[in-house]
Amino acid sequence: MQVGERFIIDGRTVAKEVRSEVAERVAALRRMGVVPRLCVCLVGDDPASQVYVRNKDRAGVGAGLEVETHTLAATTATSELLALIERFNRTDEIHGILVQLPLPEGMDTQAVLHAVDPAKDVDGLHPANVGALWRGEEGLVPCTPAGCIELLDRSAIPIEGKRACIIGRSALVGKPVAALLLQRNATVTICHSRTPDLPARAREAELLVAAVGRAELVRGDWVRPGAAVLDVGINRGDDGRLVGDVAFAEVREVAGAVTPVPGGIGPMTIAMLLQNTARAAARQSGIAWESLTPQP
Ligand code: NAD
Repeated sequence: MQVGERFIIDGRTVAKEVRSEVAERVAALRRMGVVPRLCVCLVGDDPASQVYVRNKDRAGVGAGLEVETHTLAATTATSELLALIERFNRTDEIHGILVQLPLPEGMDTQAVLHAVDPAKDVDGLHPANVGALWRGEEGLVPCTPAGCIELLDRSAIPIEGKRACIIGRSALVGKPVAALLLQRNATVTICHSRTPDLPARAREAELLVAAVGRAELVRGDWVRPGAAVLDVGINRGDDGRLVGDVAFAEVREVAGAVTPVPGGIGPMTIAMLLQNTARAAARQSGIAWESLTPQP
């Protein structure tokens, strides 16, 4: 949607585009006898996780993937989950493994993330994939950060040479977004809860990424006029409404481009999960991803 010189980045439409491209590649893989299969492990009964897993399942099936969801009780021992992952690692029928986070308290999340075969680690959280990302080597990239870059590219927002500021330094979002922007020759600042004068750091940025988990933290006067603002945050307001980390109504008046919540980064995350799974299946089958480009 155009708003004068400004625009709202429509993550839903872009994600649909990505999903349909993935679906074409999955169809090509299936013609070659490869059926990309994703295994999702859901431990416990966190309602938000249940919704995320259901959405992943639905989108995966829509793109032609096989999706198996394994639901385990909150009281499951870490060793039991590790044994299940080991079983998934060993079979050639499964190309992608995703453990829905957060795991219930008491489970050893690190041990679980380390147990996933890096070639099947579609969330990109195994240390081998984290290392590959920072070294600029081939690997699986976390879905939300990959979705941020894909959304910028498909919205024709340049990255190279830009001053980027990321608010948040988690292993899931902040750090991998920083690595990807750095790889694309942005000049990157990573801010966090102990950064002094956060609004001033944010205001310097031509690309601002908010990945904090604090409703409407980023105000209009934190944003440099014309900047591109990606709002990764998902927060539920007192009235049950979803709000991002960005005060959208204020920021849209200043930014050159901004993602809404919902309908911005969220749909991209799922699209990139499907892409990671299809890519992993192609790689494990010795098929070059590029060779699957749809023929005119
Ligand atoms: P996290 O809690 O692991 O990390 C939050 C980061 O924000 C930390 O590095 C912390 O230092 C920083 N922070 C906290 N308070 C701050 C403050 N007042 N000022 C500056 N920095 C502060 O969270 P996460 O997993 O990175 O997720 C961040 C947000 O993104 C959450 O709202 C989460 O729900 C959302 N998220 C969305 C998607 C999606 O698909 N859209 C995917 C993953 C996470």
